[in-house]
Amino acid sequence: MANLDPCPYCLTDVRISTWDTLVGLPVECPSCGMTSGPPWSANRLIAVLALSVVLNALVLFLVTRPLRAMVLIATYSAAVFAALTLFSDTRNSSPVRPSS
Ligand SMILES: [Zn+2]
Repeated sequence: MANLDPCPYCLTDVRISTWDTLVGLPVECPSCGMTSGPPWSANRLIAVLALSVVLNALVLFLVTRPLRAMVLIATYSAAVFAALTLFSDTRNSSPVRPSS
């Protein structure tokens, strides 16, 4: 199943598959060659990031034995949590303050 959306540059109808819409892939216009795609929102970005973290952890079961994979997933989860905490701390304690 595919939708037809007008190209934002030349207004030619471009065929966009359901997969392109779901994943957010850019589609090349056959008429003018420019690429366009569905808009990215903050919620979609967060969902893709969360899914990539989960898939990264599950891939460990394919490369090590289950017990070691559990240990690695715990370490990986702690590292991701630490990175998120560090990122939010850096953002909140930024020396550049908006002028009011
Ligand atoms: Zn076009």
